[in-house]
Amino acid sequence: MYADIAFPISSYQVFTYRIPYKMRNSVKIGVRVKAPFHKRSVNGVVVGVSDTTDYKRRVRSIDSLVDNELVLDKYLWSLLEWVSDYYLTPLGQVAQTALPAKLSLQYKLPSRIVVSFRKAPDVALTNAPVQERVLRYLQQNKGPVTLSVLKDITLNPSSVCKALLNKGLITWDEQDLLPDVSGLTFSPIHKKVKFTKEQKLVLEELRQGLESKKFIPFLLHGVTSSGKTEIYIDIVRQTLESGRSVILLLPEIALTPQITGRFRAVFGDTVALWHSKLTHATRAWTWKKICAGEFRIVIGARSAIFTPLKNLGLVVVDEEQEHSYKQDSINPRYHARDVALMRGKIHKIPVLLASATPSLESYYNHIQSKFKYLYLAKRYGGAKYPQVSIVDMDQETEESGKTGQILSGFLLDKIEERLQKKEQVILMQNRRGFSPIIRCDDCGVLDMCPDCNVPMAYHRTGPALKCHFCGHCIDKLSANCGSCNSTNIRMVGTGTQKIETIIGETFPNASIVRVDMDTSRNVTALTSAISSFGSGDVDILLGTQMISKGLDFENATLVGIINADTGLFLPDFRSGERLFQLIYQTAGRAGRRKKPGEVVIQTYNYDNPVIKYASRLDLKKYYNIILNERNDLNYPPFSWMAKLELSGRNKNNLQIVAQKIRDNLKNPYTGLEILGPVDCYYERLRNRFRMQIVLKSYKTADSNGRKLHNYIKKNFPDGNYLINSGVKIIIDINPVSLL
Ligand code: ADP
Ligand code: ZN
Ligand code: ZN
Repeated sequence: MYADIAFPISSYQVFTYRIPYKMRNSVKIGVRVKAPFHKRSVNGVVVGVSDTTDYKRRVRSIDSLVDNELVLDKYLWSLLEWVSDYYLTPLGQVAQTALPAKLSLQYKLPSRIVVSFRKAPDVALTNAPVQERVLRYLQQNKGPVTLSVLKDITLNPSSVCKALLNKGLITWDEQDLLPDVSGLTFSPIHKKVKFTKEQKLVLEELRQGLESKKFIPFLLHGVTSSGKTEIYIDIVRQTLESGRSVILLLPEIALTPQITGRFRAVFGDTVALWHSKLTHATRAWTWKKICAGEFRIVIGARSAIFTPLKNLGLVVVDEEQEHSYKQDSINPRYHARDVALMRGKIHKIPVLLASATPSLESYYNHIQSKFKYLYLAKRYGGAKYPQVSIVDMDQETEESGKTGQILSGFLLDKIEERLQKKEQVILMQNRRGFSPIIRCDDCGVLDMCPDCNVPMAYHRTGPALKCHFCGHCIDKLSANCGSCNSTNIRMVGTGTQKIETIIGETFPNASIVRVDMDTSRNVTALTSAISSFGSGDVDILLGTQMISKGLDFENATLVGIINADTGLFLPDFRSGERLFQLIYQTAGRAGRRKKPGEVVIQTYNYDNPVIKYASRLDLKKYYNIILNERNDLNYPPFSWMAKLELSGRNKNNLQIVAQKIRDNLKNPYTGLEILGPVDCYYERLRNRFRMQIVLKSYKTADSNGRKLHNYIKKNFPDGNYLINSGVKIIIDINPVSLL
């Protein structure tokens, strides 16, 4: 028998191997094996099995199995095949993204030895007093104990216990050491829930969806604090009661602790966590328990969509508009929301997309009646929408006579007021570090990352200068300009660290906790930061967009958006939509209970429509405006889009190759628009120059996107691959960023 194997390489080629006799029952499609590839033994996935082969040369044999159980069922397998085809990525690479790296036979979870009392000796152990004492201890102690517990009695519990084991007096077992996830969750939050009329209607629709056993895409559009999370909990409960399991996707690690806490309170230990910060050991363990059916709810980041839940009944995608659902650093460049919809189709189950600010694509799908729309218009419990004020920072500068004011007098007064009332404040500044730009006042030169051509951000702690793209660091800030040697160096712009310093100086008695990528590399630290604010120990929560959504704090009544303009002018057709969603969501953290909330938005672009409609919390109006704009320009959701991202170390060469690729794009059909090649906005990252060619396929000509897909496949039969002369090409289907 022969197996075709796909390896994690940038090629669609599969390779044929002989299946050794002893493995003939275990090697099936979807099983991972190790096989000789070039000079090494490499992990691959079996993609086909046959009795014969046409291959004429010597066929080598598979070395070994990687997993001791089947990691994929037929549903997951067809999902991976779809991802491979849709995102033009070889199956071997897709498998590498979807499956945990280490589930191998050799791989073991950390374990420990436990011993327990079995029976009393026939003859007293008078000759062995230590054994006698250990045995007595075990007899008195109900249940098994670890060897280390016995260290109080003997220095060498292992050999003493082995002697007792040989006499048949105790039992000796190896126990898997379960990973401790308590650091990742809040203590469970118990709550009596009585659904409102509006909520009940939504739940009834979802219940019918579950019962239908059909693929139904739902879009739950519920204003902030309307009870979406309570709805998830209830529909998940119904799904479990019908014997099925659930995946809940979250876009942001900062949301995991609180939501998992709410789920644990209801569902206990059947909830598993799945995200990138898990260790290999925890991943392997979690995966196995999911396979064994012991976890029936998986809460996690985008790759959780590939977890092997048995009898899947529902997928929930929380904050479905979030761009973090898109994998944008490696192939396949998949969007977890879209994969979720496909998984729903394969399993014939409902998929619930939810948000207070749906993506324009999903919103449009609802208008087109492709999604079933559920709307929650009211905040729960009569909580009012917060009152929003906009501070015109230009005018503030004029009136105060001070330029570069970071916190307006208005916002400072409001903070003071809330602190006096013992209420809590959330401040959002969507930039980490201290100052994003270091500039020489004499020659105007900025401190740039040598590899990325973007300014390096100044940080107060750790290395002084950091590139937020590639991580390049410079330990100390130089006192002189690198270009003209002047000492007139100035820090421009504001990051979260600077706000922290200012707040600390202005309100010395207030306690503050900062949440951004720099403070949350460690998940336990993140959890404790958010829970210290949740429990009221901290007065002010300061953070980047990480704290803008999903979080629910009872006593937070003031939200300050310190610079609403960040990202406003980025040359991407989605930058307005994103900023609107960010402001709207952040505002939604305020006044979620009885106490009325208030939001202060600081901006230098008082009249900008994004800021204006966001501050009015008028989503439908704004969405209608941008839908019209997108329609005029044939941008998504009125077209399908693909981006060819080209990069290389040599700019000249890149330009030549890019133009050649453009010229080779033959026979465009009516309704296909090809733009570029042009330099990307971030022209050089990680020491590579970047250019892009964008393809837009109008939905009027290509309703389901198939034409575009076929066109790309025809032009790039090898899919995502490295082309010659040092230029790398990435085919990004439905890109979320054009920067
Ligand atoms: P969303 O996810 O839409 O922002 P949440 O589910 O967090 O809203 O609801 C906001 C707050 O109101 C939460 O503390 C939630 O527990 C509470 N809540 C919502 N609906 C109910 C209900 N029917 N009964 C009791 N509490 C509710
Ligand atoms: Zn200079
Ligand atoms: Zn860099």
